[in-house]
Formats: sequence, structure tokens, C-alpha cells
Amino acid sequence: MDYLSSLNEPQYEGVVNTEGPTMIIAGAGSGKTRVLTYRIAYLMQDKGVDPFNILSLTFTNKAAKEMRERIESVVGSNARNLWMGTFHSVFARILRAEAGKLGYPSNFTIYDTDDSKSLIKNIVKEYGLDDKVYKPNTVLSRISSAKNRLISWQEYTTNPIYKADDDSAMKPEMGRLYKAYSLRCKKADAMDFDDLLFNTNVLFRDHLDVLNKYQHRFQYVLVDEFQDTNVSQYLITKKLSAVNRNIAVVGDDAQSIYAFRGADIENILNFEKDFPDLKVIKLEQNYRSTQNIVNAANSVIGRNKSQLKKTVWTANNDGNQIELIKSVSDNEEGRFVASEIFEQKANRNYKNEDFAILYRTNSQSRSIEEALRKSGIAYRIYGGLSFYQRKEIKDLMGYLRFAINPNDEQSFRRIINLPKRGIGPTSVEKIVVAAFEHDIPLWEVLTNINSFLPGRAANAINDFVTLIKSFMIYVETKDAFETASHIAKNSGLLKELYEDKTIEGLNRYENVQELLNAIKEFVDTPEVEDKSLNNFMQDIALLTDNDKENQETDVVTLMTIHSAKGLEFKNVFIVGMEEDLFPSQMMMSSRADLEEERRLFYVAITRAKENLYFSYALSRYRYGRLLNCEPSRFIEEVDPSYIKVNTKYGSREQKPSSFSPNPNRNVPQVGSNYARNLIANRNTAPKKPLAYHKPSDNFTPSDISNLKEGMKVEHPKFGFGKVHKMDIEGSNKKARVIFENFGEKTLLLSFAKLRIV
Ligand code: ATP
Ligand code: MG
Repeated sequence: MDYLSSLNEPQYEGVVNTEGPTMIIAGAGSGKTRVLTYRIAYLMQDKGVDPFNILSLTFTNKAAKEMRERIESVVGSNARNLWMGTFHSVFARILRAEAGKLGYPSNFTIYDTDDSKSLIKNIVKEYGLDDKVYKPNTVLSRISSAKNRLISWQEYTTNPIYKADDDSAMKPEMGRLYKAYSLRCKKADAMDFDDLLFNTNVLFRDHLDVLNKYQHRFQYVLVDEFQDTNVSQYLITKKLSAVNRNIAVVGDDAQSIYAFRGADIENILNFEKDFPDLKVIKLEQNYRSTQNIVNAANSVIGRNKSQLKKTVWTANNDGNQIELIKSVSDNEEGRFVASEIFEQKANRNYKNEDFAILYRTNSQSRSIEEALRKSGIAYRIYGGLSFYQRKEIKDLMGYLRFAINPNDEQSFRRIINLPKRGIGPTSVEKIVVAAFEHDIPLWEVLTNINSFLPGRAANAINDFVTLIKSFMIYVETKDAFETASHIAKNSGLLKELYEDKTIEGLNRYENVQELLNAIKEFVDTPEVEDKSLNNFMQDIALLTDNDKENQETDVVTLMTIHSAKGLEFKNVFIVGMEEDLFPSQMMMSSRADLEEERRLFYVAITRAKENLYFSYALSRYRYGRLLNCEPSRFIEEVDPSYIKVNTKYGSREQKPSSFSPNPNRNVPQVGSNYARNLIANRNTAPKKPLAYHKPSDNFTPSDISNLKEGMKVEHPKFGFGKVHKMDIEGSNKKARVIFENFGEKTLLLSFAKLRIV
């Protein structure tokens, strides 16, 4: 019971009032996740609820793992049986169990974003459409947002609203693409990420017996980071808890940062409507951060118009002011950050793990990494190119996937001529089209290839089919490790990599070995009952680097702000605080977008417990060019009394005396081979430091004060367009511009980077 004594009054209420709907919308660091964690422990420990009956949905697998560990420390190993994970991983598991009901086999393939994009690219090509208009990214995000609002292709292609939308965006073929894409996925027995949610909704809508089963199984449903759920996710949780009504959601509207991916803050209002008898609990005390950080965060978020009013205070010490670090270049920024970490570790007994460096986009990590390596500071990057996204890994996975599901079109395309078998793209296209036009599975076309292709091409396919059949026997009869090793060897993949003696080739070979090691580890885990490849492959497409286990923990964390949500660190650096970078140039076309960027800034600030740094550079390499930068407007938005300018790193000449980096020092060893590979792969050759000359003027912003209707303009994201109308509302000058590829957009001129052309 004594774990409860550490809770404050409203937190305690949130933990012990387990029955009925509960909502906690409260500021960062106020203990929302702690309440959910303790609530689960309390359900198991004090109310004797079976962990099988508890469903807890988190935003990342990492968060789920941490939660499970904390619960385990209270209730013991029984916590392993909780249903806990991300929406995608939990519902992929349910879909596999119920796949037959939806006409899928239980070993359906999960298409990752790359698979989805390359499928779209193929379809666009087959339809003879312009791939500059129908870019895979654009098409996929349109389809994705339809699916996340539960709009099926059937509805999309019959409802004139969507057609009108697409016509005005000058993408009239979007409906046709959505339909073809969906049919092709279905035909390949594949679901993409959005399908996992979409199909769960379909399952629960069309199969009430199944819904009923899970409604009774999940007596308690808990959702963390509720502000970032989309409509599709919300409907699933709502349905699942409709019978028992024991649903607890926690979140913070000020931390909603996924609207661009369809997250809908309206869910908070919907929840109140759908569960009118809900208990609302307010948490106002922040336990995480110093007074100064809490105040700074409050001063920033107060600038957003659309937000629920909340109070956040803390009883913690004032702490230090935020330090502002200015550098002349991105490389110097990296060096300053590394020096500061070095010094703080020496003077204040911090460890590497007490530091996080947060940035807006992944590409910013390069200069920071370089500096950390030179200073011998161990670090880990989260969420960059995932291990499973590497080409050599995807190639082997392609074989494994295909041996499990030989109707998987994307895997087929990937492996059919790898290593080279003399099968050209025309044959591949003919095969895929034949499967589609005759409405038979891909594998059936392949196994009867002589009816579809002429002699020589058919022979090569027949050999391929024989090879795959031999792999299938392994899948059926051997464990995952034996199967994967056999396939790696007999497909010819390993040999090809082995023969490539370049450094990259060696790395790729080691990566494949690393995947095999991971499979071996899986097979050797006593708790795993089903050791088949099938079981290993289940949710692999959902894994990210963040989920890799058994890594060295005393490392500095590098990650995007998006992936830092929910986490906390003693010391936080927010780097690249520059206009167009943060706030991002992409996000400045409307007030709503700018507010989302500001919420992101709020998330970043509130990760820090003790010390916070803002850092900006006056020049930076972006898009392969050296650009001049201005400090971010966000720096000015923080009440100046909470900030002080760091004078230690004022000039480029100056180096702190306590810091003498040794460039010959080895790359720090951080645990497994896998982690070492990650680091080794990133910087194979030392990059030349940036010279300190005055950067050329690449960007001359045009004077848009005399913008008029009818003028031609250029926008960095939307390309060329014509000013359709000028709106002047108070001091807000807006232009409605019709872009050639993006249709009509209303742009706030004070934010939009428009150039008159
Ligand atoms: P975020 O909005 O960032 O997700 P949160 O509201 O989920 O934050 P938690 O992560 O649960 O906040 O808690 C923040 C920190 O405060 C954690 O380190 C947690 O252990 C600590 N904390 C929360 N409540 C208490 C308490 N009553 N006593 C001591 N520490 C607490
Ligand atoms: Mg939290």
C-alpha cells in the first residue's frame, strides 16, 4: 500500500477511483503518467483484477515498457500479462487473431511507409499519371488522413465532396489511386499502418460478437497522451469501453503535436459528450521541473489562443535561468554543446544519461554527433533511420516476409531480382498486372507462370518459385533462427554482401548478422513459446530503434522533440533555435500551424528537470547550402527574466579551459554490436569542419508589402502560384493564393515566406 502514500490528493483520487469514466487533462510533469501507472498497480494489487483484463495504450513501445517495469516493481512479474502497448501494436495483435473475419490470413504482412510509398509510385506509373503531381508522399498522406477519419475508398470515390476537394487541389485522380492502392494492399494480404486502426474499426463495427468478446475482456481501459489520438483511435477505445465504462484517459491539450498526422484535439470534447458522467480530475502541481522552467513554459504556452486554461505550479526550487548559447555555425553549436556537457559532468557530477539534446528535425543530429564523438561522450540517437529501414535488412526481411506470405507484392518486387536472376521490370509488371486482372493471388500466377510469360522469362521465375518453396518448408518445420539463416544463405544475399569488401559492404554484412543475432535471441528466450519465424515477424514493421533493448544506458540522448514526448531529463539542450528551422518553415502558413509549433516548443521546455539551454547558430548547412540564420521568434516569446545569455561561448576563438577534446579518442562503446553499428555507420569519414568565412547571401527575401492580386509568387513548400485575393483583417495581412500543385491556400503574410516572381 505504501506506494500510494507518495501521491498528492487529486493524484490519489485518480488512482483509487477505478470505476467509471475518468479524464485528467493537466499540464506537463504533473504526474499524469504516474497516475495511470499506479492505477494499474492498484487494480492488480488491491482490487485483484487479472492483468489480462487491463488494456493500457501508450504512445510509444518504450513508454509501455517503462510503465510495465514500474508496475512490475509494485506487483511483481504478473505485470507481464497486461495488454499494454501502442494502438498499432495492440490492435495488430487483435487483428491477427481475428483476421479471418475480415478476409485476411492471420500472417498478413504489415506494409511500412516505404512499402506504401513504393506501391503508390508503381500505381501512379501504371496509370500513366504525372508523378510530380501525384507524389507518393502527397498521395499517401491524403489516403492516410481519409483512413484516419474512417473514410473508406468506397465512400471516397462516391461522395462528391472529396472529388471536389481533389479537383480544386488539381489532383482529380486521387480517388482512383486510393481505390487501387487499397485493392492492391488487400490483394497482397497486407495492411499499412493506418489499416491497422481502420480495420480494427471495421472489425468492431461488422462483427458484434468479436466486439463483445473484447469488451468483456478489457474491463479497464487506460489511455496516455490522449491529446494525440486520432478519430479512428478514439472510436476504438470508446467502443471497447462501452460496456464496462471503466475508461481513464490522461493528456494535455498544450502538448498536442500530431495534428499534422490527424490527431484531433476534439477528442477531448467528444469524450465529455460520450461519457457525460465522467469524473474530471485536475492536477496542478508540477513535480518535474524547477520553478524557473515551469514559469518559462507557462509564459510560452500562454501565447496560444486555442487552449484549455490550466494552472501549473511547482514547489521545487527556483533553479537556474535558461542559458542561451549563440554560435557562428552548426558545427560550432555542436562543439559548444559537447563542451558544456563535458564541463557539467566534471563540475556537477552529472552522468551522460542526465543529458538530452533535442532538435526539430533528424538531420540536425549530424554536427552534434560529430562533436560528441570527438569529445568521447557516449550518446545514442533515437528515431533516426531505424535499423529495420536499412536496405540490407529490408532485403532479407523481404525474403522472410515472402516465404511467409507469397502474395506480398512489395516483397516480391524487392527480392525477385536480388541477387540478379535476369528477370526484368517488364516481366515483373506483367506478373503483378496478371494477378490483378485475373483476380487471382500473386503466388498462383507465379506457380503457373508458363501460362503468363514466354519461355526464358518463365524459366527464371520457375527457379525462383522452387527456391521460395524450399524456404516455405523451413518456415513450416524449423524455428525462426534456422529458417532465417537458411534463407540468408541460400537466397544468395549473404554471399553478395560478403563479397563486397568496402567499409559500407562490411557494415551491411554485419547488420544482417545482427538481425540473425536478434532472431537467435528470440529463439533462446525461455518465455517465448512459439519460436516460429511467423511469430518473430509479427510486428516487426512496428518496431523502431527506440524499442531496441539491452543497450548501454549511460549515454546522452539525441532525439527529435516529437519523440521526447512524455520523457524527462535533468539537463536539456534545445538546439537549432532558428527561424525556419524551429518554428519550421513548413509550418508557418497558418496560425493553427504556428500554434502547433509552439506546443512543440512547450513540450521541449517541459522535458527539463534542472537545467535548460536554448542554442542557435548564425549559419547552417541546409539542403546542401550554407544559409544565414536568424534566432527563433520562440526565444523572444519566453519572458526574458527566465533567460540569461551564456558568455562562456561567445566567440569562436574561445575554448573553455577545462575542456581539451582529443580527436584521436576512440568512438565510445555503447553496448551491443547493434549500437556500435549504429554509430559506426553514421560517420564513416571525418567531415571537414566548416570554414569561418562570411556565408554568401543565398536568400534575399522579397518585399511583399506591395503584393497585389494577380501577381505570381513562389512559396518554399507550395511552389508557384498566383495571388487570388488579398484579405486585410486588422493587422493581419493575408493572401489567398492558388498554387499550381496545391490548390488554394490562405497565407498569413507575416509568416509565409513568399517571393514575388
Ligand atoms: P508529461 O505531460 O510530460 O507526460 P506527466 O504529467 O505524465 O508529464 P509524470 O511523468 O507522470 O508527469 O511525472 C513527472 C515527474 O514527477 C516524474 O518524475 C514523476 O515520478 C514525478 N512525480 C509525479 N507525481 C509525484 C509525486 N506525488 N511525488 C513525487 N514525484 C512525483
Ligand atoms: Mg506523461
